[in-house]
This record gives sequence, C-alpha cells and structure tokens, in this order.
Amino acid sequence: MRTPNDRPSRQIAIIGAGASGVILAREILAFEDPDLRVVLIEKAERPGRGLAYATDEVQHLLNVNSRAMSAVAEQPLHFQQWLVEQDHVGSLEEGVFAPRAHYGQYLESILHKLLADHRSSGRLRLVDQEVISIGKADHAVDVRLADGTSIPAHHAVLATGHDGGPRIDGASELNGPLPDRHSTIMILGTGLSMVDAWLSLRERGHRGPILAVSRRGLLPTRQKASTALRLDSADVPLGTSLPYFMRWLRALVADTEARGGDWRDVVNGLRPYNQMIWQAWPERTRRRFLEHTRAWWDVHRHRIAPQLHDRLEQPSAVATSSSFPVGSSTMLKRLTVSSSDCVGGVILTRGR
Ligand SMILES: Cc1cc2nc3c(=O)[nH]c(=O)nc-3n(C[C@H](O)[C@H](O)[C@H](O)COP(=O)(O)OP(=O)(O)OC[C@H]3O[C@@H](n4cnc5c(N)ncnc54)[C@H](O)[C@@H]3O)c2cc1C
Repeated sequence: MRTPNDRPSRQIAIIGAGASGVILAREILAFEDPDLRVVLIEKAERPGRGLAYATDEVQHLLNVNSRAMSAVAEQPLHFQQWLVEQDHVGSLEEGVFAPRAHYGQYLESILHKLLADHRSSGRLRLVDQEVISIGKADHAVDVRLADGTSIPAHHAVLATGHDGGPRIDGASELNGPLPDRHSTIMILGTGLSMVDAWLSLRERGHRGPILAVSRRGLLPTRQKASTALRLDSADVPLGTSLPYFMRWLRALVADTEARGGDWRDVVNGLRPYNQMIWQAWPERTRRRFLEHTRAWWDVHRHRIAPQLHDRLEQPSAVATSSSFPVGSSTMLKRLTVSSSDCVGGVILTRGR
C-alpha cells in the first residue's frame, strides 16, 4: 500500500462504529499525518449510535450527568456545549441526565464532521458491512466482510461492544406487537436494558404486571453526585486472589463511608485501574469474578438516573425474581413452559 509520494501508508480498520469506534477514529485522525488512514466498518443501519444510543425514545436516559459525557478528551464539556447549541439545555452549568437519543445524535454529528473533514482526502472511509472474520495476511491483517470482499489493514481494532446475549425460544425483542395490555410480561434480564424495556412497555400502554428475571434479581443502583476517590496504582492490589481483593474493596468502602464519603466514590476512583486489575488476574480468578461477583459489580458500576430509580422503586413498577436463572438449557426449557402457562409475553433484553 503506497501513497503518491511513495511513502508507505498505514491503514487502521476499526470494526464497529458505536461510541468507542467513533471516538477512536477521531483520536487517530487528530494526528496530522496524511498517511494514517482509518476504515470504519459498521453493520448497523445508523453508524455512530451503537447499542446504547440507537434508541429514539426520550424516556431512555443517560445514566451519567451530561457534564461528564464528553466524547472529546481535551474538551470535558463538549457534549454539554452541544446540548446548549441544540437548545436542549439553557447553559453550560445545567447538567442533566439527557435522553440517550440526544447522545446518539451527538455521536452522529461527530462522525459526520469527521467524514466531511477527511473523506475526500481518503483518510476516512465508512463501510456499511458486517465483518465476519479477520485473517493474517502479508500486509498485516485481512478484514473479511459479509459481502465476500475484504479490506487489507495494518491493524484491526475490535470496537464491537457487547455481544448480543443468548437467543431464547419464545422470547421476543420489544419491537413486535404487544400481548393483552393487562397480561403479565416477563423481561429476561434486570440490567440497564431491562429498565429501557420496562419504560417502553409503560409508554406503549402496557398496564399489567412486569416481572424481570435474572440469575440474581439485582437492579441497577441510583446515580448520585460523587467525588472519585484519589487512588494511586500502588494502592490497588493487583494479581491477588478474588477473596483478598474483595476484602480490600469492602474495607476501602467502609473507610470511605466512615469519613463521610460514599461507595460510589470508591467505584469511580477505581475506574482508571479497572483494566489493570482485570489484566493482572489469572484466568481462574477472572472466571470466578464472572461467575460470583460480576452481577454485583455491574449494578454498582452501571447506575441509573435518580428520577428513573425513583420510578423503579415504586411498588407497581417492576417485580424482580431470581427463580428462573437464565443460562442453562434446562432452566431455559422451564422458562419457555412457564411463560406459555402464565405469562402473556417474554421479552429478551440485551446489553447490560
Ligand atoms: C441500556 C444501556 C444504557 C447505557 N447507558 C450508558 C450511559 O448513560 N453512559 C455511558 O457512558 N454508558 C452507557 N452504557 C454503556 C455503553 O454501551 C458504552 O458506554 C458504550 O456505548 C459502548 O460503546 P462500544 O462502541 O464499545 O459499543 P457499541 O456502542 O455497542 O458499538 C458497537 C458497534 O459495533 C457494531 N458491530 C458489532 N459487531 C460488528 C461486526 N461484526 N461488523 C461490523 N460492525 C459490528 C455494532 O453494530 C455497534 O454499532 C449503556 C449501555 C446500555 C446497554
């Protein structure tokens, strides 16, 4: 691969144009190097949106305050500024839990600007295809697409987000027709996507009971203003056993709360070290974490806007249960049977 002046160009294929793919493309293209090229490959209809921001429903809110949602590292209020320019909020000071649809439009606007600035020079190409495999080739990697063609690149970045989760017989996604509006609907999953499904069902006029089911039946916790605990990497135990790490974490939370802080300060303070912690664990510790601890970690890490949490706490909002664990085939069979017996419909939620 050569440029007209015969200097070798470097091509980076980013697979997935959700939040991570778009933000990474922007960072790479910020290098003023004409030989550094990006191919952004996205299978979904609306590049820039990804899983979390593809919704158009305004009651689906961000779970982070708008003043902390900039996609541009060097401009911390970039998203807030965009909200002001679009007349969604009155001032830079007015932090809100904005609709995720607005965040999707914001990411799209960043992508459109990148395309306007870099498409004609060939530094950025957006490819509307699904990647089916990546193979090694002389020039580094060969990214193979569903239409049978392939794209050579020096590096490939997987920015494909969460996997879609299990497919379960009899379960549908939310876009189909609803059953009787007074019947019981069971939602598989109790995370952020369940909150979306519950809000959409209520918005679409469903008045019957909603039962959300997951292995542990834990709901997302409430978002609250927090000051991230300042931690040094030397403070964080790396590569220890899971019980040791959890004892350290609980002691840190207890100590923080005893000094008037909040557990969220600890969770937020750990953010810069999360990857390091994960990478330092051997595989058996990672497995133990996924099996025993992840569900608790997720509900503390992925919190929801206070106004949604208030609604979720109302007795008529949504009942939770852990009595039909999702994941084993026998349990799934039970779930299918019981859904046809007593439940008007089963909705499978994806993502967190
Ligand atoms: C319901 C919900 C609410 C959330 N709310 C927030 C929030 O308020 N604030 C926050 O910071 N985070 C939130 N998150 C987390 C959020 O998903 C992440 O912050 C972030 O958007 C993840 O970005 P990503 O690019 O890694 O994945 P995604 O945004 O999911 O993007 C992955 C992209 O890759 C594409 N793709 C996948 N496979 C292929 C393939 N083979 N070929 C081509 N394209 C492919 C997909 O179509 C998708 O567009 C939320 C998550 C969920 C599920």
